[in-house]
Amino acid sequence: MSTAAPNENGPGLPAPVIERPELEIVGRSEAFPVRRIYCVGRNYLEHIREMKEGDERDPPFFFQKPTDALVVDGKVPMPSCTSDFQYELELVVAIGRSGQDLDPDEALGAVLGYAVGLDMTRRDRQRESFKKGLPWEIGKSFDRSAPCGPVHPVESFGHIQAGPLELKVNGATRQQSIIEKMIWNVPEIVAQLSRQYRLMPGDLIFTGTPAGVGAVVPGDRLTGSIGRLAVLEVEIMPPL
Ligand code: MN
Repeated sequence: MSTAAPNENGPGLPAPVIERPELEIVGRSEAFPVRRIYCVGRNYLEHIREMKEGDERDPPFFFQKPTDALVVDGKVPMPSCTSDFQYELELVVAIGRSGQDLDPDEALGAVLGYAVGLDMTRRDRQRESFKKGLPWEIGKSFDRSAPCGPVHPVESFGHIQAGPLELKVNGATRQQSIIEKMIWNVPEIVAQLSRQYRLMPGDLIFTGTPAGVGAVVPGDRLTGSIGRLAVLEVEIMPPL
């Protein structure tokens, strides 16, 4: 799906076209056109502890990545402006129905399915933002910072509310936890977010990462597994 943008090329010239990235939906012919990418910050206690930033009693919160940060080909170039480029393995919720001010007990009705994603982070820039009280964009919301696998629809795979997560780098396990350790579970995340924004079909929610985050460099190969979802494979590439 594509959308015409304001014509910055000038009158009489073809308007630029903004491509809307899409995820494959397992078992369906139609794709999942992505509208917004929301992320949950601080949703696993052991990750809050390893970060050593802020108060661990503070509740989780939301931030966004630009939609065109989505990576569907598994290739993530080393970004500019960092010497501490880190992975965060996360369960991703795909929204299939609009919703606002949802209660947790009705929130799952808005979920189309689930995917495996990585919230790639410029950790050095994120830590600077913490210390200076500045926005997180430079640490979180940069080009190609959101690799994501296909959406597994609820009708075939059920809701993913329990089970293992594991991230390997070059075959060695770096993150290993269970979804049950989320501070906000999936219905609570969807309900909370729907109070702040009207959820729409095409929205993705990255639900936070467990402990074990670390740095990667070009040539590293990451494999993310979450329960019965297809394994996400990502390679870190040289800078563009
Ligand atoms: Mn994250």
